[in-house]
Amino acid sequence: MKDLDVLIAKIKDYNFKADFDLVRKAYDFAQIAHAGQQRASGEPYFVHPFNTAMILADYKMDISSIVVGLLHDTVEDAGVSLTEIRKEFGPEIAGLVNAVSKVSGIKLRGSSEEIFVENLRKMILAMAKDLRAIIIKLCDRLHNMMTLQYLSEERQKKIARETLEVYAPLAGRLGMGETEGQLEDLAFPYIYPQEYQWLVEYSKPYFKKTEEFLEKATRVVYKALAEEGIKAKVTFRKKHLYSLWCKLQRPEIEKDITKVYDLVAMRVLVEEVKDCYTSLGVIHSKWRPVPWIGIRDFIALPKPNGYRSIHTNVFSLHERILEIQIRTFEMHEQAENGIAAHWFYVAEKTKKTSDVKLDKGKIFALGEKFSWVKQLVAWQKQLIDSREFVEAIKFDAFAHRIFVFSPKGDVFDLPFGATPVDFAYAVHSDLGDQTMGAKVNGKMVGLDFKLKSGDMVEILKKEGSKPTAGWLDFTVTNLAKRNILKSARKI
Ligand code: MN
Repeated sequence: MKDLDVLIAKIKDYNFKADFDLVRKAYDFAQIAHAGQQRASGEPYFVHPFNTAMILADYKMDISSIVVGLLHDTVEDAGVSLTEIRKEFGPEIAGLVNAVSKVSGIKLRGSSEEIFVENLRKMILAMAKDLRAIIIKLCDRLHNMMTLQYLSEERQKKIARETLEVYAPLAGRLGMGETEGQLEDLAFPYIYPQEYQWLVEYSKPYFKKTEEFLEKATRVVYKALAEEGIKAKVTFRKKHLYSLWCKLQRPEIEKDITKVYDLVAMRVLVEEVKDCYTSLGVIHSKWRPVPWIGIRDFIALPKPNGYRSIHTNVFSLHERILEIQIRTFEMHEQAENGIAAHWFYVAEKTKKTSDVKLDKGKIFALGEKFSWVKQLVAWQKQLIDSREFVEAIKFDAFAHRIFVFSPKGDVFDLPFGATPVDFAYAVHSDLGDQTMGAKVNGKMVGLDFKLKSGDMVEILKKEGSKPTAGWLDFTVTNLAKRNILKSARKI
């Protein structure tokens, strides 16, 4: 089978009515755009966007996202213009390509912690406009991490660190647990090569023994559940290496792997929520729970990233402590793929798999318990909290900035209290001078309107008009004030 056919077959599995002509068109377009370009591995460059699209199809993403996966590097790396993408593929896809390119353009490691956090915030805001941009970026990063061995050591370290510090936590925040673990494990050997080597050797026999044990324990659980008439799928999962390494550093574990009870955890997947609780009862009547670890019910109290499951630790066969995670199939899908699974779920419900916007309104309309947008904001907040060592002044400087968007999706950072006039001057001095009115998030506002982070600002201008001295009363940036004064002197 040709690789394009493999991709199409994969999409057909979950979205058989998709616009496959569009996928073919994007495939040809990107292949031609990247013709002659090579990756560091010596392979044709197109291998990268193609695999990004394949990963997106694994996540059951909509057609627009997959098309953008194919096109995502054509603007930045192959000199294609956004206008051309818009002409060929329409505004939605052009907008997404732009958002993904913009994210890559933001340098994450600046000269200081402050710049880093600011850039990160900009990145999140740029992506928060259309959450698919984040998923596409994460899949792009996943493929880049899989092929990192071909780069120079310096580039490897830089990209791996960025992955560990930014992209993996981002995936985690979005509930994409499996992606988070994969990104961490791909970055781990580049950042801590000795520790990685040590852990691989040290953990190998324990993993092996625990898996053998789990096979026996699994049979016991299957039988017990079947006797109660519960249909279940019992599997197990190995702990990701990086997460294991982090756990070994905890004081109560004392680098002793035998104290890590979830090294290999049992997973019980059932159809319905009530089956989760019934299964818990069945298991506890067989094996008593470990009192000092206890049961955590993330179904009744989901984690902030939306994770749902019941975790219990029991004295299982031969009194050995075993972690068991109980969840429905749907919860499982969401725990692995988070926002991406959610996307598919929303699309399914609205029966329009190709052009669903995952916006706040829709999520609430569907009666969902959490909004991803709210989560992004929460994540930003936590990011600030975790950097408490950033001195108070720096923190203040940061807290007093806002990030707003142009209608094209460009991000501008302005001081707190900035108005549409400040924004207009930040875009261009001519635009500032000719400002007549402004729309914020589609609504007309006064020129002295105070902008908030996340606002989309559109300036209405009139050729030849001039600023008035009254603007000095409400503008806050020096740039705007200077230009207003300059203009006033000319009259
Ligand atoms: Mn890329």
